[in-house]
Amino acid sequence: MPTILEPLAWTLVAIIGLLVGSFLNVVIHRLPRQESIAFPGSHCPSCGHALRPWDNIPLLSWLLLRGHCRYCQARISWRYPLVELAAALLALLAAAVLGWRGQLLPALILLWALLALTLIDLETHLLPDRITKPGMLLGLLVNATAFFSPDFALTRPLDALLGLLLGYGLLRGLAEIYLRLSGREGMGHGDFKLLGMIGAWLGWQDMFLALFIAALSGGLVAIVFLGIGKGRDYAIPFGPYLALGGAILLLWPQAVIEQFLHLAAPG
Ligand SMILES: [Zn+2]
Repeated sequence: MPTILEPLAWTLVAIIGLLVGSFLNVVIHRLPRQESIAFPGSHCPSCGHALRPWDNIPLLSWLLLRGHCRYCQARISWRYPLVELAAALLALLAAAVLGWRGQLLPALILLWALLALTLIDLETHLLPDRITKPGMLLGLLVNATAFFSPDFALTRPLDALLGLLLGYGLLRGLAEIYLRLSGREGMGHGDFKLLGMIGAWLGWQDMFLALFIAALSGGLVAIVFLGIGKGRDYAIPFGPYLALGGAILLLWPQAVIEQFLHLAAPG
């Protein structure tokens, strides 16, 4: 890219990130409630007043209105601007790591989907099919473009298909075994679909590594919670850890593989 266009590209990525973040707020709020994403338009959750376009500028409106509804003065959660900021920062990070190439586009879509799934899972302990199922299909389609062009695919089409089948099947099998042994549900069906989705986007190799990162980071957090005596009543969903693993593998696959090989064969 010509140097003169670089600042423009960064600004554009940040603005698109904020706008997507604003859309993700709607998705995060409405999907678990089985509401339509498109209708009605944005409204204050407190008084129901429809928001004008200038009430709905990502980040800015919240700051200008100091976190209150213009119409009823109800407090608007700081979560809204935070999600917008997170979506923009993720986009900038992806552009910085991956550079200005075709793969940036599918990478952004995957990162934003993982962000939405993480926040929904933390809040409701659900990973909605309305994200994971189209997510699986889109991952396969993105990688199928490798048949025509090397520009957009994140992995080989066959690896993506295997990633979907193995990711979904592996967790399902593990959950089945856990259920037989302990008589308790260890994971939700959403977790199988999320790992299958990660496999469909990143291939079976990265899917396994993402699961490894998820188990490791989830285990560490569980140990911390047990250590401070909150292990029993603090059930943390597994989805955010899978999403974290997927995001790390998307952005730094080489670093993870090197660390993994180092752990497997020290020295
Ligand atoms: Zn209001």
